[in-house]
Amino acid sequence: MPPRVRFAPSPTGYLHVGGARTALFNWLYARRHGGAFILRIEDTDVERSSTDMVTAIFNSMKWLGLDWDEGPDVGGPHGPYFQTERLDKYRAAGFALVASGHAYRCFCKPEDLKAERSAAEAAGRTWNYDRRCQRRSAAEVAAKVAAGEPSAIRFLVPPGITAFDDLVHGRIEFDNANIEDFVVIRSDDYPTYHLSVVVDDVDMQVSDVVRGDDHISNTPKQVLLYHAMHAAVPRFAHVPLIMGPDKKRLSKRHGATSVGEYEAQGYLPEAMVNFLALLGWSPGGDQEIFSREELIQRFDLEGISGGNAVFNPEKLDWFNQQHIMRMSAAEILGRLRSAGLMNVGLEIGELQIEKVIDLLKPRSKKLADFVPQMRPFLSDDLVFDEAAVKKHLSDPAVPGLRKALASALRTVEPWTAAALEETLRAVAAAHGVKAGVLIHATRVAVTGQGNSPGLFEVLELVGRDRVIRRLELC
Ligand code: GLU
Repeated sequence: MPPRVRFAPSPTGYLHVGGARTALFNWLYARRHGGAFILRIEDTDVERSSTDMVTAIFNSMKWLGLDWDEGPDVGGPHGPYFQTERLDKYRAAGFALVASGHAYRCFCKPEDLKAERSAAEAAGRTWNYDRRCQRRSAAEVAAKVAAGEPSAIRFLVPPGITAFDDLVHGRIEFDNANIEDFVVIRSDDYPTYHLSVVVDDVDMQVSDVVRGDDHISNTPKQVLLYHAMHAAVPRFAHVPLIMGPDKKRLSKRHGATSVGEYEAQGYLPEAMVNFLALLGWSPGGDQEIFSREELIQRFDLEGISGGNAVFNPEKLDWFNQQHIMRMSAAEILGRLRSAGLMNVGLEIGELQIEKVIDLLKPRSKKLADFVPQMRPFLSDDLVFDEAAVKKHLSDPAVPGLRKALASALRTVEPWTAAALEETLRAVAAAHGVKAGVLIHATRVAVTGQGNSPGLFEVLELVGRDRVIRRLELC
């Protein structure tokens, strides 16, 4: 049977890189094996969830190219895919657990239990719910329900050991003695995460649960629920957490953490996908650059490592640059345009712009890096770097040299980098200065900047008229 996997974000924040990596692993696994990738929105924490975040999560997933086969917008046979639209199912499941003796009504007030827990913990004792409501007689419970007393539903944890075979971590066992009778339906009738996630995973026929390591401690409770519901337990793969370069859990302190921020900074989704795929997963071998198709062909859960993965922003930049290098200039131009980054414009032909992009590719880590570098080719309104002007244009000999070069360039044929280089070197020699002096001065005069790709390629693409005009402007 092809796998059925899901990504189940809570819309309480933007799509975090950790969540995106979880979504990607699920998506790759589904695509690799011809399975289904389900998107389910876990919005039962109504206070903290928002529709803006739902939209932001959808947008980030679309940007990464993680399309879902079942879920919001596309529908599917097991919908609805928002948990707040499935509350009846959780309540029915809660009552069914009570009916089958796997759970009981608890009339204790949450604030009283909280106070008991705090007092015990302050005294250095651990505190577990003592099952006082489980000992109530059926008649007592019925009377309280009839009187309209609010109650939660608690799962009755049986004695024994709960174990599961994790695809990443191997066999994991928990002694049920350490698992408290946990609430599955709160007194406000909302389900807790454990119940809703299991009801949905059963209903949606999820075969493999691939999610963050932080859910390992939740898994025994969920396994107990599967058993109580007589449902098949899925396979679990708990993916190691993502750490910052300081080996602490990735957080705002380390810089951008949401996928949307990386999109806004001009990263390519291809690079982000490649980078995220290798955070905690390895196909073996030395290859690092993978297209989406290659990742699909290579991905498997066996390649996920148990150790924590380190998010290194410099490595992401490197991936981005590598993907930029592999992309055609026409493609990059299209991306720049759709990102709204192409709003400076002299009339230069499309082919010419593509040549400029090819020239700038090796010097551009992000899409946004192209923009200032393209300026001298696309605009006469240069931005001058003061330090470069001071360093390379202030010598009293420079204006004469600029004029001499301008006049020599009028007749250079053909207007190619090689011919331009020959001419510039000849002018420098005729004036008894080192070629470097004139090269630097010309670069600043023509681009405004102290750094650029090879000067002669730049001059070729800026074009004869503009180069001469900029050299003469002194
Ligand atoms: N909504 C949960 C979360 O965002 C999903 C956990 C799970 O995958 O089971 O952490």
